[in-house]
Amino acid sequence: MTVTLDARTGGFPGFGEDAPLDLGNLPASAVAGLVSRFRNGTMPDLSDALASVGNCSHPIHLHGTSTTIDTATGQVLSEYSSADAPLGVLLRPCGNRRADVCPACSRTYARDTFAMIRSGLLGGKTVPETVADNPLVFATFTAPSFGHVHGTRPKNGHKSGGRCRPYDRTKTCPHGRPKACMTVHTEADPAVGAPLCSDCYDWTSAVIWQWHAPELWRRFTIALRRALVSHLDTTDKALRHRASVQYAKVAEFQARGLVHFHALIRLDGPNGPGSPSPVDGATLARLIRDAAPAVRVEAPPVDGADVPRMLAFGSQLDVRTVRTGLPQTLNPYGPDATQVEDPRTSDTLVPEQVAGYLAKYSTKSTGTDPDARPAHHRRLVRTCRWLAERARTACRGLAGPDPEDDDGCVCGQCEDSPYRLLGKWAHMLGFRGHFSTKSRRYSVTLGRLRAARAKFARLRADADRTGQPLDTRDLEARLLADDDATTLVIGDWHYTGTGWTTDGEKELAEAAAARAREYAQWKARRTA
Ligand SMILES: [Zn+2]
Ligand SMILES: [Zn+2]
Ligand SMILES: [Zn+2]
Ligand SMILES: [Zn+2]
Repeated sequence: MTVTLDARTGGFPGFGEDAPLDLGNLPASAVAGLVSRFRNGTMPDLSDALASVGNCSHPIHLHGTSTTIDTATGQVLSEYSSADAPLGVLLRPCGNRRADVCPACSRTYARDTFAMIRSGLLGGKTVPETVADNPLVFATFTAPSFGHVHGTRPKNGHKSGGRCRPYDRTKTCPHGRPKACMTVHTEADPAVGAPLCSDCYDWTSAVIWQWHAPELWRRFTIALRRALVSHLDTTDKALRHRASVQYAKVAEFQARGLVHFHALIRLDGPNGPGSPSPVDGATLARLIRDAAPAVRVEAPPVDGADVPRMLAFGSQLDVRTVRTGLPQTLNPYGPDATQVEDPRTSDTLVPEQVAGYLAKYSTKSTGTDPDARPAHHRRLVRTCRWLAERARTACRGLAGPDPEDDDGCVCGQCEDSPYRLLGKWAHMLGFRGHFSTKSRRYSVTLGRLRAARAKFARLRADADRTGQPLDTRDLEARLLADDDATTLVIGDWHYTGTGWTTDGEKELAEAAAARAREYAQWKARRTA
């Protein structure tokens, strides 16, 4: 079944009679649902409803009313009821971050993340533009190795094309498996990321590392501040009078099922975002390179049969200066003078590319379809559940009571185990952190960007209703401003469900979302 979008956007080949939406192979019942909307004249309402939630796959249904009142005069400014909405119900986008759950909302999330990261790089959206003058470093923190895994290898300057693990082919591991793999893997190869020997691979340590990865990052930020304290010859307490470290970071799952952190780290001076930094980007990069390898987290054993572990980041640490941001008062004869790079030659990364790169990763989950995980990801999921179970009954370990008698904790303390919640995060392979995080003063918050979008939707709806054109003067500043208290919204809303009425409508939403994405890409190419 195909449906044509009615829009007049000059030149885009994806609109009009010649470019119907591909709705896949819909079951007859779903087609019937859409056809009946054409018949009874509610198709335009469905179109409006789709537009109102930006083609969300699982919109939230709300019934109720709200009234906006001027707090100074008590005058009712507007009233809204879900009965007036296109399908008689107020639909709100689900807001899911993950592209595999809701393509449309995940794009909104990626766009907000991009705007948030970009503002921290270049200013704008309430962030002073002088942040663009400050030193900026892009760093990638990896997981250590827990055994050899299959992978794509570089060759002749290309990312792939090399043999997986060229090694003496006669050598085997204690389990009799070859230590070599002469295959040239492609990225699509499901073997990529899987261990050469699943019995040699240290699954438990891999999961325990992933569980503590957010803590490793937190300790890195502390270590970097300490390094700055020592470099600036100041004290922990007085550092805020000299400099402030701000960052945005995203977690990205690698093929082996462990996360990397990609971080943009900016150094501000003492007077907030964009105030001149006391050191340049090359120095900041050096302090990061020195601080990261020394970061440690001691992980307690899971139970009596386990051992404590000293966790660290992997030895592959990539630290690159995006902007040197020369300090305001540079002493050319000072001890740091030789470390100052020429900003024209050191700017190897384009800030906006980095923002796009990070935003892209912010909508991924574990990188694989949860219904079709590769075997080594399934093994990590099982390891998480198994470790959680061991932690829950750790007292029943080596010297514990007879496991035949009882099936739970007998000491009453196992519930304090740091690993008791591992099972809950098994679907994330034990990673419980946020996919995208930022320090408080790095940039505008995603919450404020969301509020601005909601405000814009209200203003546009008001403009449509009243026929008054939207006042675009200082629009962005007004949208991002903290709400003033001159109006009060009184609402009474009830949640009545989630999703579209039929599979056909969901299919239509996703096809329209895909077309909107194509349009955005087409537009980006035209303006590039
Ligand atoms: Zn959604
Ligand atoms: Zn291989
Ligand atoms: Zn082995
Ligand atoms: Zn116990």
